[in-house]
Amino acid sequence: MKRTLALIAVLPLLATLNAAEAKGLKVYVSVDMEGISGVVSSEQTNSESREYAAARKWLADDVNAVIAGLLAAGATEIVVNDSHGGMRNISPDDLRPEASLISGSPKPLSMMAGIDGTFDACVFVGYHAEAGTAAATLDHTISGSSVYEIKVNGVEVPELGLNAAIAGYYGVPVIMLSGDAAACRQAGSLLGDNLVTVAVKEALSRTAAKLVPLPESRKRLQEAARDALARRDQRRPFRFDPPCRFSLTFQNSAQAEPGEMLPGVTRASARTLTFSTQDYLEGVKILRALIALALAR
Ligand SMILES: [Zn+2]
Repeated sequence: MKRTLALIAVLPLLATLNAAEAKGLKVYVSVDMEGISGVVSSEQTNSESREYAAARKWLADDVNAVIAGLLAAGATEIVVNDSHGGMRNISPDDLRPEASLISGSPKPLSMMAGIDGTFDACVFVGYHAEAGTAAATLDHTISGSSVYEIKVNGVEVPELGLNAAIAGYYGVPVIMLSGDAAACRQAGSLLGDNLVTVAVKEALSRTAAKLVPLPESRKRLQEAARDALARRDQRRPFRFDPPCRFSLTFQNSAQAEPGEMLPGVTRASARTLTFSTQDYLEGVKILRALIALALAR
């Protein structure tokens, strides 16, 4: 009788454990190219270029090292979103079979396509510093030819911050970022210094860097991914408090002209458009549309 009662008492606990196991541990990975091990020049990140074939292999190897680390920490589902240029940088042949791949473009949420509230953690691989950062590999924000600066609620935000807040919108914390040392510093200061970062190179200029040797770089990426996922409970989702006030400054005044015609958008200065939204995701979509209009000029 006593044993039966004890079993009845423990059953709900077992059910909870089974539920946790059944839910699994889902990780979302967004992969850019400028912050990949070995990459220092747009000759390597441009798919039309002769040097691209080598660089896309480096990219796959960086991602696979991260996947190995995530699996070692108990990840049960990994979704990799190819997030650079035409977004077909990872050949499906080259990706570890434990991860599924989001390939190609356009995608409504672009570098964060496929994210939702079912994920437990988010990882950024191969990311870069914001436009206007000195000694940072291929620094830019979304579009090098059109965007000078983006602010949300008065704070300058690099691409990594805009994307982290999309993950945060769904309640998903960013647990790790890899890129050059400048991108790692920006990520730490914006997203919190307990963010696990892996600097795979130290830039000497926009197109020169001292590289971490590739085998060592992959070893660090694997170990960092494992440690970051193990410590995911220490991380909180990154969010902007509504109302979200967006400020988008273009490289030149002509790029601000088409967006000025939209209701709700204000031409704050020759090169700057501003608008506010209650919903952060809605604001990001407007931001992307304004940049698309500028690029169509
Ligand atoms: Zn990129």
